[in-house]
Amino acid sequence: MKKYFTLACIGVLLACKSDPSAETTHQLEASIAAEAPQHTSSYAIVIHGGAGTIKKENMTPALEAQYEQKLTESIQAGHKILAQGGSAMDAVEASIRIMEDSPLFNSGKGAVFTHDGINSLDASFMDGKSLNAGAVAGVTTTKNPISLARKVMTDSEHVLLSGPGADAFASSLNDPQIEIVDNQYFYTENRFQSLQRVLNREKNQEEKNDKKMAQLILEDAWIKDTKYGTVGCVALDKNGNIAAGTSTGGMTNKKYGRIGDSPIIGSGTYANNKTCGVSSTGHGEYFIRGQVAYDISAMMEYSHMSLKEATDAVIQQKLTQLGGTGGVVALDHLGNISMEFNTPGMYRASMNDQGELQVAMYK
Ligand code: ASP
Repeated sequence: MKKYFTLACIGVLLACKSDPSAETTHQLEASIAAEAPQHTSSYAIVIHGGAGTIKKENMTPALEAQYEQKLTESIQAGHKILAQGGSAMDAVEASIRIMEDSPLFNSGKGAVFTHDGINSLDASFMDGKSLNAGAVAGVTTTKNPISLARKVMTDSEHVLLSGPGADAFASSLNDPQIEIVDNQYFYTENRFQSLQRVLNREKNQEEKNDKKMAQLILEDAWIKDTKYGTVGCVALDKNGNIAAGTSTGGMTNKKYGRIGDSPIIGSGTYANNKTCGVSSTGHGEYFIRGQVAYDISAMMEYSHMSLKEATDAVIQQKLTQLGGTGGVVALDHLGNISMEFNTPGMYRASMNDQGELQVAMYK
């Protein structure tokens, strides 16, 4: 609406250019300045550490403190880069690497286990200036998949690499930022026990139908808790560039090479300087079907919605109607931030150009 009014004013102003009345011109210029969209923040950053059945009653104060500390460390690292005039892309990568290296989240170290008892990781990265993007799916020996996703964007002619090929690409780079590790590196006892619990449940079920089984597992509150924890980040830098990234281990007990939304550009990650950047977390199949991240950007671009309206429409209405659960963190080109989810909680944090920090977990 504001945009239309501004455009209308520009039209009137141009028409008046032939009018020698300087006063009228000045009045109109003042009117344009008043109506031009104002920056909420000249740079900003927002992160998530997964959405799910995150409830205060299931948390201990010690665990809560650990999440708070790690989310703060991660966002401050990205914020520092932005404050010093660094790029949104560098901020996103730095923030996500810290969460990937922490066993608290379902990405990098601490990723969930596949049905076959290994860790298989997905990540994606997008530059809102060029609309260039990179992603990897099913990597098993790359320590920081987010950095590899960025390399796919910058150092290959492709957007999405998968499996052993993606790991081979990582090795071929000979880049100290792209560390190669044994799959054992990703092991955590917690996540391994989560897999054992799901496998036992599966074995004990009389119902052998795979689809029904999958549904039962998805409805199990405890399993729901253990399968989330993807991480993501969106940043806006001082030059008005937006970048977004997402990294995950996917879902506990995933089989048959299942890939979720996280490495899918438009579902798990999207960035466009004209509109916004988005990183998703939740039940990936629904985020793919809903093209959640791109849909938010499209609503802003084509329906002229605000970021708040678009994230609300896509998460609270469209995704919820599909039956999907999860959330997004997003920010627009004016530095507005949105953290929208339809689950009981989402690990999240944001910071603006005033250095104001918000960290939250519950609804
Ligand atoms: N979206 C991820 C996936 O489906 C999981 C998550 O966000 O926790 O693979």
